Amino acid sequence: LVRFQSVQKSYDGSNLVVRDLNLDIHPGEFLSLLGPSGSGKTTCLMMLAGFESPTRGDIFLEGRRLNDVPPHHRNLGMVFQNYALFPHMTVERNLEYPLKVRKMPAAQRAQRIHEALSMVQMQDFAKRYPAQLSGGQQQRIALARALVFQPQIVLMDEPLGALDKQLREHMQLELKALHRQLGITFVYVTHDQSEALTMSNRIAVFNQGVIQQVCAADTLYETPCNRFVAGFVGDSN
Ligand code: ATP
Repeated sequence: LVRFQSVQKSYDGSNLVVRDLNLDIHPGEFLSLLGPSGSGKTTCLMMLAGFESPTRGDIFLEGRRLNDVPPHHRNLGMVFQNYALFPHMTVERNLEYPLKVRKMPAAQRAQRIHEALSMVQMQDFAKRYPAQLSGGQQQRIALARALVFQPQIVLMDEPLGALDKQLREHMQLELKALHRQLGITFVYVTHDQSEALTMSNRIAVFNQGVIQQVCAADTLYETPCNRFVAGFVGDSN
């Protein structure tokens, strides 16, 4: 579905934060990008979303070279840790706004909003403001806002990082179930090994801008390819 081909990224012209990245993302999979802080995971997601450009190399979506395609033409949904919901708008308006910007007719907007809220089981909260929702509910709305576009891929950057442990574990299972139900591709950035293991079909382990290993979640634990991977996935903190 997506191919990163010899992708490099430098923000300052000298320091490579992503070096020679080659990665295929398969249709319908739940792929986690796992690694310590600063290893280049978010930068990869930003390049796929179109908010950053590769310094070298190419990214393809279904064989189409993405380098010059602007973010809003990539058919991707994004969910961030801080939700980024507009506080002065109701849930419904938060979901409607990006559709309005794209000039979607009102009837179709209403339909999309209804569908997206149903997917995350938040139909009854359409008239509430973000401040009137719990952290987990806000996170579901952020996800619904990514889903209103009917994206081909949902990109998530530590979406559960702000939640307490119990809620985080609950939301992990919810996201996993939703992924199964929707059948769309999820790319999920996390530095939490157990989160990656719980949720993913495959995991790509990053360190210092390089993918150390990419394989099925259980393979990673059974046969880590080097000492870094063994140490990182074995460290339960
Ligand atoms: P984290 O989990 O902390 O977000 P990460 O693995 O996602 O880490 P990135 O956010 O991709 O890593 O950062 C990789 C490196 O690039 C870091 O050294 C970071 O300081 C640098 N970096 C990221 N964004 C920018 C930017 N906009 N301008 C300059 N440097 C940046």
